[in-house]
Amino acid sequence: MSAVAVENLAARARYELQCLGYPQRPWLAPTTFAGEHVHDVVIVGGGQSGVAIAFGLLREQVTDVVILDRNPIDREGPWSNFARMQTLRTPKSVVGPELGIPSLSARAWYEANFGAQAWEELDKIPRDRWCDYLKWLRQTIGVTVRNDTEVLDIEPLKEDGFALALRDAKSGRNLPRLLARKIVLATGIEGSGHWHIPPVVAAALPRDCYARTADRIDFSALAGKRVAVLGAGASAFDNAAVALEQGAASVDMIVRRPQIPAVNPNRWIEFAGFLRHFGDLSDAMKWRFMATLFRMNQPPPQDSFDRCARFAGFHIHLGAPLTRIEHDGRQIALTTPKGTIAADFLIVGTGLAVDLDARPELRRVAPAIARWKDRYTPPAGERNDTLSEYPYLSESFQFTEREPGAAPYLRHLYCYTFGAMPSHANSAGISQLKFGVARVVSGITRDLFVASAETYLESLRNYDERELVRTTPPGDGRTNQGRMASASNSVS
Ligand SMILES: Cc1cc2nc3c(=O)[nH]c(=O)nc-3n(C[C@H](O)[C@H](O)[C@H](O)COP(=O)(O)OP(=O)(O)OC[C@H]3O[C@@H](n4cnc5c(N)ncnc54)[C@H](O)[C@@H]3O)c2cc1C
Repeated sequence: MSAVAVENLAARARYELQCLGYPQRPWLAPTTFAGEHVHDVVIVGGGQSGVAIAFGLLREQVTDVVILDRNPIDREGPWSNFARMQTLRTPKSVVGPELGIPSLSARAWYEANFGAQAWEELDKIPRDRWCDYLKWLRQTIGVTVRNDTEVLDIEPLKEDGFALALRDAKSGRNLPRLLARKIVLATGIEGSGHWHIPPVVAAALPRDCYARTADRIDFSALAGKRVAVLGAGASAFDNAAVALEQGAASVDMIVRRPQIPAVNPNRWIEFAGFLRHFGDLSDAMKWRFMATLFRMNQPPPQDSFDRCARFAGFHIHLGAPLTRIEHDGRQIALTTPKGTIAADFLIVGTGLAVDLDARPELRRVAPAIARWKDRYTPPAGERNDTLSEYPYLSESFQFTEREPGAAPYLRHLYCYTFGAMPSHANSAGISQLKFGVARVVSGITRDLFVASAETYLESLRNYDERELVRTTPPGDGRTNQGRMASASNSVS
């Protein structure tokens, strides 16, 4: 297998896209606002979701689509930044970014590179291979991302549409604004909030004594040091593993729960009925499913656990909620009901918080956005303060208004992030792409068409492109009217 096989696969995929290209006619008229061009769709985030949504739109002939990402090219998303696992957590059978084109699938790409036997023998897809695949996919489908471009602010315009304030992420300089009719936020798993740091940690420790699992961490500087890790999720284990592999003297994992979960409900949800139609359930049913999923939590993958467990210096402290944390200028003391652990550095793996108010680019619009607590009151005994804070999304992932009529522009703002969990069981993960992208794309095309229905009607009324260009059979000198006249004469 070789570069030639991969190039042939790309050519095959492009051919298949041509075969499936119908209908091919672009259908959106260019729009301006006070003389400025308004893009049909701007997608914030050029990771796999942003690219897949753009691909979906292009296949529907929505061609004026811009993708912005603050990260440099090929450094979008977690994969080559802070994801520290060796393989994807998702089974290799997952599909999504290829939008149903077999030649664009991860399997086809992997087999072209390494052979069918290698795929057969593969357990899960290695993380760096997934990065390479996403890069190849993007090049093959011709979707480009405008990198190093951070969205600072989203301002609703008086007419429908938004102005996006931009900054060059490299130089820090402000860039000319962009206007958009629709905006899709594909800003990642943390895109509706932030990586969580328990307030006790932030209050007690100097910033250089701790990091979040999603931060850049100089692990080589931790060689010979005592590291504590807060939390027992997949990323907590992966960070602990890297610290140990890079020579940390010990890693103490501090876990509030009495047991590490062993069952992964994310595997349970992977069936078409649930993934496609969760969004069609009643609010009460969505709430109950989501509360159950959140309560079950998820285990670290077995290989992440094993990666840590082979080190003698790895210790797990279960049933050990942090009650006190101190720093004496030299070392950290982490106190739990089970005792006090001394450490030189702390890695915080306590997950993410959904908090729209914390997103700088949503500062202006967040107060107007309906959360679940604004729309749904659970029955007694089903209260869930975490779920209450999630945005309450429409069937197409649009934000909705907290106060009806107060912020109609929200129907042009789509939230494709982990914030979509209670509304669509969509974490922006790979498993959900196939279903989520279809909803977002059809929601956008529906809106764009319906909003301009008058114009399309006018266009139809003025339509004058002749399909029938000849009204006589080839070689017949008579006109059609002449033929019809003689036919009616013969009847009378
Ligand atoms: C450590 C880790 C491991 C994971 N492993 C898996 C897994 O195995 N399987 C799985 O299905 N999912 C996994 N996930 C979830 C994972 O995040 C998604 O599957 C995937 O990265 C989501 O793609 P995305 O395009 O939605 O978001 P991302 O890939 O995160 O891309 C979002 C992009 O938005 C950009 N952005 C954010 N804000 C702005 C802004 N204001 N302006 C401009 N750009 C902005 C960011 O730079 C980023 O590139 C993992 C997540 C993490 C953190």
